[in-house]
Amino acid sequence: MKTTYKNIIENAYNLTKSLENSGKLATYIPELANVNPSNLGVHMTTLDGTHFGMGNHQDKFSIQSIAKVLSLTLAVKLIGDKVWQRIDVEPSGTKFDSLLLLETYKGIPRNPFVNSGAIVICDILLTYCKNAKIEFLEFVRDLSDIPDLNYSDEIADSEKATGYRNVALCNFIKSFGNIKNEPVDVLDFYFDMCSIEMTCQQLSQTFTFLANGGIKISDGKKIISKSKCKRINALMLTCGFYDESGEFAFKVGLPGKSGVGGGIVALYPHNYAIAVWSPKLNPNGNSFRGMRLLEEVTTHSELSIF
Ligand code: GLN
Repeated sequence: MKTTYKNIIENAYNLTKSLENSGKLATYIPELANVNPSNLGVHMTTLDGTHFGMGNHQDKFSIQSIAKVLSLTLAVKLIGDKVWQRIDVEPSGTKFDSLLLLETYKGIPRNPFVNSGAIVICDILLTYCKNAKIEFLEFVRDLSDIPDLNYSDEIADSEKATGYRNVALCNFIKSFGNIKNEPVDVLDFYFDMCSIEMTCQQLSQTFTFLANGGIKISDGKKIISKSKCKRINALMLTCGFYDESGEFAFKVGLPGKSGVGGGIVALYPHNYAIAVWSPKLNPNGNSFRGMRLLEEVTTHSELSIF
């Protein structure tokens, strides 16, 4: 890896570490309250496979909504543009778990990265896969080159016991006819999907295919077409951070996706993918220090998509 990238990551990490660790843990999922709030990790993987990380970059954390990018990838791989008959591609301007716009748009979620959209994606996968839970897991195992990757029962069970808003979202969408399977099955898969754990190193490696036109870097396997890859990146840029997507584009300038576990993954097309983890979230549900660290990286590398 270029020494300039290493220096930039080192400086960004040290600066972020020295700042006040503001924000709150996502305690609405009880299991997520059990992490050390002072953890901070970052890892970059470039398309030639070289990589560099700092801090807690090799500790596993719950990737939560970051998994929505992977479930969308599998859905567009399976049924292509048919996905967009069920979900829109517009920023929501609302929180990730909002019910608000579903009434206005008659059960069509604004995009696949708010919870409602990801729930419809789970419904699509249940319809088109023989066993969605297994096929999704195998898909992510292959993409990440982690053969023993699994759902976390602790995290999934914790959310299954408390995820009332997601239950409401799924049932509400079902009332408009945009959920085809039983809500209980859709939600079970949704919570499992969100429970996957990875390290910053694994996450940055996994997402390099989106910086590489849909091709996996470790074995050259085509995951999705260039055009589908472009669209997923466009959605990450415009919708990856809920009501803070504009802010992320403004300050960082890369396609990315956050999760309430405090992780963020972002990518610079044709160059690298980078993952950060700091569990405390800002009021929009995005990692407070994660956003800050990435802002430092793109500011000092003077490289973004703009
Ligand atoms: N599993 C979480 C939820 O449904 C995912 C939310 C997120 O990471 N933004 O609330």
